Amino acid sequence: MTASQTTARMLVPLLVDGQWKTSSTPATGDVYNPSTGKVIARVPLCTEAETHEVIEAAAAALPAWSATPGVERARVMFRFRQLMEEHFEQLAALVTREHGKTLPESRAEVQRGLEMVEFAASVPVMLMGDTMPNIATDVDAETMRHPVGVCVGITPYNFPLMVPTWMFPVALVCGNTFILKPSEKVPLSAVRMGELLVEAGLPPGVFNIVHGDRQCVETLLRHPKVAAISFVGSTAVARSIYEKGTKNGKRVQAAGGAKNHLVIMPDADLDQAVKALAASAYGCAGQRCMAGSVAVAVGDVADRLVDGLCAHAGQFQVGPTDGSGEGPTGPDMGPLIRQEHMERVAGYLDIASSEGATVALDGRHEFNSDAFLLGPSIIDQVQPAMRVYQEEIFGPVLSVVRAANLESALEIGRGCPYGNGASIFTSSGHAAREFKMHFNAGMIGINVGVPAPMAWFPFTGWNQSFFGDLHIQGAESIHFYTRQKMTLTRWFRSAGESHHDPVWKTS
Ligand code: NAD
Repeated sequence: MTASQTTARMLVPLLVDGQWKTSSTPATGDVYNPSTGKVIARVPLCTEAETHEVIEAAAAALPAWSATPGVERARVMFRFRQLMEEHFEQLAALVTREHGKTLPESRAEVQRGLEMVEFAASVPVMLMGDTMPNIATDVDAETMRHPVGVCVGITPYNFPLMVPTWMFPVALVCGNTFILKPSEKVPLSAVRMGELLVEAGLPPGVFNIVHGDRQCVETLLRHPKVAAISFVGSTAVARSIYEKGTKNGKRVQAAGGAKNHLVIMPDADLDQAVKALAASAYGCAGQRCMAGSVAVAVGDVADRLVDGLCAHAGQFQVGPTDGSGEGPTGPDMGPLIRQEHMERVAGYLDIASSEGATVALDGRHEFNSDAFLLGPSIIDQVQPAMRVYQEEIFGPVLSVVRAANLESALEIGRGCPYGNGASIFTSSGHAAREFKMHFNAGMIGINVGVPAPMAWFPFTGWNQSFFGDLHIQGAESIHFYTRQKMTLTRWFRSAGESHHDPVWKTS
């Protein structure tokens, strides 16, 4: 299998017990190159029996892998990291080919993925437990971290390579085995990583890939041999996976959708703010869970902000990101994932007009291309009750809400059901501090357009942007993928020693 050279007829393989297999299912989905509008592969919607086979492979590999010393498990990640670096450009081209983001955006995605692998390679030091000698007379206490078992990752289409790396590298170094169910829209980057993991020397069954949609996920959620589920995707699915998974006794972390606010104060450096807002709203064609989707213009900055944004974003070059995934970097912004999604996003411009908002920049152009294109769009005079504010659009559309002062901006945030990221643009330390302390979101930026944490920090979504207790990334991910064991030890000084319990003694 060479994931980067698939053809329209090719059925994407599963990885089971170290072997690449062709699914026997008659049910398949199409994988597109969004820049050409053409099908580049078919993805199997695996049968229940095939999904069970993958789970059994992961369960069978668990005893040997969890008994492998942590430093040896980490060494596989060092080799995997080396291979990722050697194939950096190929991986970036593959992300562009199946997702449509620009090549520089894909390179940034691979770089973030590499950092996750680097973090995972350092995990053994964080697997150390605590000890307390003589916690009672002659009794020592210690904790140690054990793997949780077979872990499952279910990932979205918008980061085909990076989001899987939020999960499997840490899970594997913690001693778990892993099943990845990538988005059926973008399975090729995941398959290429599977190939590199095999090349890195990962034993068979430790990392597996199964393909499918809701039915495949339901099978994974039900199976008693699955211990933990990591999910990233839309809020409705995240909530349902959290509810079903926990009901079945599994550990679940489920990251959902978002509506990220960018608050611009009158004292902000407007030129910097406009560029940061445009990069945040239109990067990856707005298909990022940390994309700025609501600009909150405070006081008299609103008209200047909207004028500046329209002038800047109106000059974006929008086009296919190069059909082959090779060659020059191409435009500022690429296509959306599918024609239907592009039409759905464009439809919000009509919805906004019908609700009384103003389309200040309309990205619906005649592009003369088969790519699923929509240009940067800006909707002004948006009110929080409107659908364009309430719903996640997930495309290159920025809504502008006007607020009288910072307190009003904070109040708008309090009413938002989501809570991933929020940023303030200001030159006032006091305003920045108020915002940091009081805005209703889990990841805060100060003069930063996309406050997405790097591998060492947790991805701390709040409200309906996250369901669970332990977040993805950072130390919390190690806690998610391990369970603690506490041991009390007493060695007797002599055969005739008192039988009373030194821990529970009452006098
Ligand atoms: P999605 O929810 O449609 O799909 C995500 C995964 O769930 C896919 O693997 C899909 O096959 C599976 N799935 C879809 N419907 C299902 C169902 N009914 N039952 C079980 N499984 C199902 O999301 P998407 O469209 O692929 O990705 C975009 C969404 O992901 C956006 O909402 C975005 O905000 C979100 N996202 C969130 C984060 C975060 O960290 N919070 C990061 C990236 C993307």
